[in-house]
Amino acid sequence: MILTSHADNDSNFLRYRKDFPILALDIKPGVPLVYLDSAATSQKPEQVLDAMDHLYKNSYANIHRGIHQLAEDATEQYESARNKISEFINSPSPEQIIFTRNTTESINLIVQSWGRTNLKPGDTVILTEMEHHSNLVPWQLLSEFIDINLEFITVTEEGLLDLEEYEQLLKLNPKAVSFTQMSNVLGTVTPASEIIQMARNAGATTIVDGAQSVPHFPVDVQALDMDFLAFSGHKMCGPSGIGVLYGKRDLLEKMPPFLGGGDMIKQVKLREFSANDLPYKFEAGTPAIAEVVGFGAAVDYLGSIGMEKIFEHEQDIVSYAIERLTEIPGLKIYGPDARQKGGVVSFTMSGSHPHDIAQILDNEGIAIRAGHHCAMPLHQKLNIPASARASFYLYNTRDEIDKLAEGLYSVLDIFGI
Ligand code: PMP
Repeated sequence: MILTSHADNDSNFLRYRKDFPILALDIKPGVPLVYLDSAATSQKPEQVLDAMDHLYKNSYANIHRGIHQLAEDATEQYESARNKISEFINSPSPEQIIFTRNTTESINLIVQSWGRTNLKPGDTVILTEMEHHSNLVPWQLLSEFIDINLEFITVTEEGLLDLEEYEQLLKLNPKAVSFTQMSNVLGTVTPASEIIQMARNAGATTIVDGAQSVPHFPVDVQALDMDFLAFSGHKMCGPSGIGVLYGKRDLLEKMPPFLGGGDMIKQVKLREFSANDLPYKFEAGTPAIAEVVGFGAAVDYLGSIGMEKIFEHEQDIVSYAIERLTEIPGLKIYGPDARQKGGVVSFTMSGSHPHDIAQILDNEGIAIRAGHHCAMPLHQKLNIPASARASFYLYNTRDEIDKLAEGLYSVLDIFGI
């Protein structure tokens, strides 16, 4: 096997690698890290690490409470991050940006607050067969209290959503349609605009799981017109422990608080309270202050590169990955072709378990993921217990894909296939 270098194609993006200190690591002596697990979590640039470090060293205090200078500085940075994130997704106002821990908590907030007050027994909610557990189990939990009917849009052989079936399901007059904008297993970018419009025409509330979309391509909440959007900071160069729920103002205004405690109230008496205004109504307790500031630095960083450019780069990497992996005997890739896909390639190899593949690649410094990727029903549908997944971000290069392909050839050698 002769492996060619294609560094020329991604040389523009090579310069961003130096922003990520971890990418310069040798994972063991003489073995450089090839990080292909960004769908699980992304690495962090110096700009984000510095912003958090700077806050802790210069202006750390609890926000919204004290009248002292540090508290004012910290509050100012926290709210300025909210403004940045609001602009990043083109939210009509920063009050519609609610800080949560992650996508999972954002979806649980919607289900427990909006779902409990708006759904009654017998109501239908439409999901899809490609959902992450975090857009499935919260609905299952709710259905234990309110006997709602869950329907699922089928995933076709090509790894796409069956929109004809969706049209039929909409005749059930669903109250909500909740779906991922990009599958973390198949990489499928779903036609969000069409799905939302169809749901709207049927009078259903729309919830978009943006965990894999907001980090990788432009998402404009006003253009798409969804009712709710959930996403996580840690998948988009930000720190872990911070996520966002965006919602339409009229819906958020009417929803009861999700968690009770400090900050989310206006007035408290022994037996009653009145809730605070948006967004604080949904931000109980001391939030992840430094993480919010780091998240603000992350969207500044992504914005300075440009989300269109990031997506273009990932499209190049994923097309190349599909091209290289398709050559490997016995390797099967799941999901649609590169044109309908983001930077995720899940695959199996006949004769070797995904965990063995990941282990062998790990010996060569290549980090991929093996398992069900929190999408067990999708794996049941594909009739496989697990898959191996390589996933990409702005810092990955074609050379790294060559290393992945080389590593997969050694899997073939080791298993004598
Ligand atoms: N939805 C999708 C599509 C995801 O890929 C993930 C993370 N793997 C989540 C939701 C959950 O994100 P988090 O763990 O940050 O809550």
